[in-house]
Amino acid sequence: MSCAFDIDHYGELIEAAKAGGYRFAFFDGEPQSGELLLRHDVDLSLDAAVTLAELEAAAGAQATYFLMTRSVFYNLASAEGERVLARLRELGHRVGLHAVHPHLDLDGRFDRVVAWHNPDAGFMREPLDGAVNVMQPGYFDPDHYRSDSNQHWRSGCPHEQLAAGGFDWLQLLTHPEIWVYPGATMRETMASMLDAERERDITRLADDRIDLG
Ligand SMILES: [Zn+2]
Ligand SMILES: [Zn+2]
Repeated sequence: MSCAFDIDHYGELIEAAKAGGYRFAFFDGEPQSGELLLRHDVDLSLDAAVTLAELEAAAGAQATYFLMTRSVFYNLASAEGERVLARLRELGHRVGLHAVHPHLDLDGRFDRVVAWHNPDAGFMREPLDGAVNVMQPGYFDPDHYRSDSNQHWRSGCPHEQLAAGGFDWLQLLTHPEIWVYPGATMRETMASMLDAERERDITRLADDRIDLG
């Protein structure tokens, strides 16, 4: 099995978790033995989030998608953004806030759970009033956490350990765009995403009644 950052291997990670006997859990209580908390920080692409969400739903997996209200790459308040929110919920996933410090726009669109975007060490693990911080004590510790940052697993791809039930519990952070768009490097993957977004923008222009004739 090659540990590529592609949609096939993402599916294999989910299958590995099922083989390892993990239960898919949300951030609504401190993780218990045997639980896998799938966390997705959606930094760049709502389309990629929906692609991953559909794959997970088909595999019987549930995740928490953390969406931004202050992204420069997508607008959650647009009709497109609202459709994605509804679709993620319809697929059985939860939606949390991917917040830009110090703004906590925790309105009715979100469950009471927050993941800071690019956090500084100073506030990263601080508990919040009335909401779970995914990195607060009880939800995060280094032995029970893996992340795919920039197509790099600091402690190696977790699929083998998942299949063997090697984690007592795990918070697994993945970024949908890294897996959905093809490319052997982060740069190639981002180029694929930008190509796809350009196609989307042409449709958006037409939808906005711009004359492209
Ligand atoms: Zn792997
Ligand atoms: Zn982020």
